[in-house]
This record gives sequence, structure tokens and C-alpha cells, in this order.
Amino acid sequence: MVDAQIRARGIADQRVLKAMEKIPRHLFVDEGLIGQAYNDNPLPIEQQQTISQPYIVALMSEAMALTGREKVLEIGTGSGYQTALLAELAERVFSIDRIAVLATGARRILDALDYYNVAIRVGDGTYGWREESPFAAIVVTAGAPRIPKLLIEQLAIGGRLVIPVGSRHSQALLKLTRLSEDPNDLKREDLGGCRFVDLIGEHGWGN
Ligand code: SAM
Repeated sequence: MVDAQIRARGIADQRVLKAMEKIPRHLFVDEGLIGQAYNDNPLPIEQQQTISQPYIVALMSEAMALTGREKVLEIGTGSGYQTALLAELAERVFSIDRIAVLATGARRILDALDYYNVAIRVGDGTYGWREESPFAAIVVTAGAPRIPKLLIEQLAIGGRLVIPVGSRHSQALLKLTRLSEDPNDLKREDLGGCRFVDLIGEHGWGN
């Protein structure tokens, strides 16, 4: 998977590649889909949600430019696969999902893999996790209609927000770097097209 789908498409961050080689992705998919766990596509998980395509997970992780010393926030725990990757790449990971059974399932697998630097909570991640801010990086793994301002406010200066933004059918994967105290002072990079499930919440597609 890593050679054919990730390296071959230009992901060069050695820490991301190493972490993806280490993490057993098949533990994060439903039993009936284990044979497809390393395929080049997203897969369905419980509650009509998805575990993202491996390449997209790698692209988002590389864009966060982590060194191992950071505190990061993930909105959309889902299966917990990207959470595990972040646990390898950063010092502390905070992850939120709005669906309790997904958060519980992810917690169980992450505990089994000894990822104790991860805190997970159930709730509307469009509010972020203010008590733990500022974050060096925030990744949103569901498609948003617009950039949630509260998330920008919870970024450290120099922090990166990686988020799919667009319509319900297609989004642009954006990397936004906060340049100063002013939350409107952002460097914006477009990493390409993608399609995610909806970010549902107060500052997403509504409840
Ligand atoms: N990165 C995950 C993985 O690899 O398994 C994929 C996550 S899935 C594409 C998107 C997740 O976002 C779903 O689990 C969904 O419940 C969650 N989600 C949607 N809106 C949310 C919100 N406002 N707050 C927290 N989680 C949300």
C-alpha cells in the first residue's frame, strides 16, 4: 500500500511513510472488509461514515508538517485510523467525533495498540476544543461548507488547518496557515479535489 499508493504519488515525509508502514489498517475496518483494508479507496464503517482512502490520510498528515513535538486536534475520529497516525507523528492528539459508537470503537483499538497520547471526546467538533488550544495543527476529516472561524482561532501562530471545503458532493482540500494574531491573516494552499462525508454541526452543515 505505502509503495504503490503513497510513495508513488509523491508523499515524501519519512515520518508519515514510516507510520503508515507500522499501523495495521485492517484493525480499523469492519470484519467483513478486512480483505479490502489496504485497497486504494475509502471503505464504509458504522453509521454511514467512512475510513478515508490511505492516500488522502497521508496527504492530510504530510500537510500538517509535524515533527513529533506538537499538540494537534482532529475533528472526525471515525475509525481512528488517522488518529493512530497522528499519535505516531505528534506528541499529543485530541480527537472529536459526534457519533459515540465511533469514538468508543476508535478508543478500544487505539488502547489495544498502546496509543496513550490520544484524548477522544464525543461532541460537535466545529466548536474545536478550546480548553486545549492553541494547536500546532488541526485536521478536519469531514467536508465543510466554509472554514469554521472557531478552529482558526484555536490555531497557534504558524499553525496549520487542513480541511476539505466545498459543496456536499465535492470539496477542495485546503491547507491554511495562520500567520499572525489576526485570524484573517492566513496563507491558503489548495491541495486538490476530494470528496468527504458531511461535517455536521453548528459551524458545518447544521444538525
Ligand atoms: N479519519 C477518519 C478515518 O480514517 O476513519 C475518517 C472520518 S469520516 C470520513 C468523518 C467523521 O467525521 C465521521 O466519523 C463523522 O461522524 C465525523 N463528523 C462529522 N461531523 C462532525 C462534527 N461536527 N464533529 C465531530 N465529528 C464529526
